[in-house]
Amino acid sequence: MNCNKTRVLMSCALDCELSAREEEEFLKHLAECPECAAEFTEAKKTKMIIREKIVRVKAPQSLVESILRLGTHTNPQAEGSLLFDQL
Ligand SMILES: [Zn+2]
Repeated sequence: MNCNKTRVLMSCALDCELSAREEEEFLKHLAECPECAAEFTEAKKTKMIIREKIVRVKAPQSLVESILRLGTHTNPQAEGSLLFDQL
């Protein structure tokens, strides 16, 4: 198994959707490849953090804040004039 296939399987592995054979090959690659092993550890951590935030209902608030922050960075007037120039 190569790194690319391992990364595809990684998201499935997090949801425990690997077949026995896939899991065996996946774990075998992780044992041989420190890079993928580290990435899988990070992915598991991230998934746990997201789950925790959902349980504590903190995620929606931070999501709203980041969307609001994004909104202040875009400049509708600049985009409008660009569109006008193209016409
Ligand atoms: Zn790898």
